[in-house]
Amino acid sequence: MEVNAGTELQPFSSRYNSEQACMEALIAMKWRSGFVCPRCAHTRCSRLTSRHIPLFECGKCKYQTSALVGTIFERTHLPLLKWFKALELFLLPDGISAIRLSKVIGVTYKTAWLMLHKIRHAALEFDARELLCGDVKVNSDLYGCNPSRFQFSQPYASAVVAGCTVTESGEPEQVKIRMVPHKRGDGKRANRLELAAFINGHVDVRTSAVESFPLAYRLYAPLRKVVREAWESLKSTYIALGLKHLQAYLNEYTVRRRLHLPGAEDTMRQKLLHMCVAIPAIPYRRLIARQPNQPLAAAA
Ligand SMILES: [Zn+2]
Repeated sequence: MEVNAGTELQPFSSRYNSEQACMEALIAMKWRSGFVCPRCAHTRCSRLTSRHIPLFECGKCKYQTSALVGTIFERTHLPLLKWFKALELFLLPDGISAIRLSKVIGVTYKTAWLMLHKIRHAALEFDARELLCGDVKVNSDLYGCNPSRFQFSQPYASAVVAGCTVTESGEPEQVKIRMVPHKRGDGKRANRLELAAFINGHVDVRTSAVESFPLAYRLYAPLRKVVREAWESLKSTYIALGLKHLQAYLNEYTVRRRLHLPGAEDTMRQKLLHMCVAIPAIPYRRLIARQPNQPLAAAA
């Protein structure tokens, strides 16, 4: 997608148009119910404004901290304005490539690449940690085949367990799709044990009403539709880049879908900002260690 820096950046930059405005947004997001000392949990503090980055000193133990600690922005040398623009562009329906980002915000390719990976890591990690909770449906589905077209071999088909929370009207809200790696290409689906393992790992069972659909002909249709849409969206990418990274693509797909659920534009930005503040930056060495295959390059 072509990015027109002049117009697409407008909504975010009109609101966060200065370093100070960005910093205040991060402070508000970090301590949404007020300051809490990371060392002693005291809730009173004084704000030291003499520094470049505002510091908050605990009223009890005198520990000093900033709103950037424990976020993807910690130790950044870049202006927050550039980060906020990167977040905005990350939210474009097709995302943005590192090379395009580097041009739009005026940083090197390497910096843009790192920024995108940090944002993506935060979003994926946040989503992975958050259990499905509430009214939850779980399907034993097949990913990568068209059920209306009978085919003998489905080399790309893989058994998946898909789970979602639903809105009042029954539409999938937060979705998780997990492959069952040893059941690929042979048409076999996840069994009840594998469904139970998914529910144990990804659903907050204490606070949820879980309904599971183990039978192929009686799946929860709206959730099945999401799995089909994911396949439609990703098939060219993963067939080109390899099944090995399919789980990573699926995770990215469901996170993007979640960020783009109907709602105020602002909600989407606040959600992403919340993710970036809640998850510490991935260390550079770990990021590099992951990179030999450039996962998600197509979506970058
Ligand atoms: Zn303290």
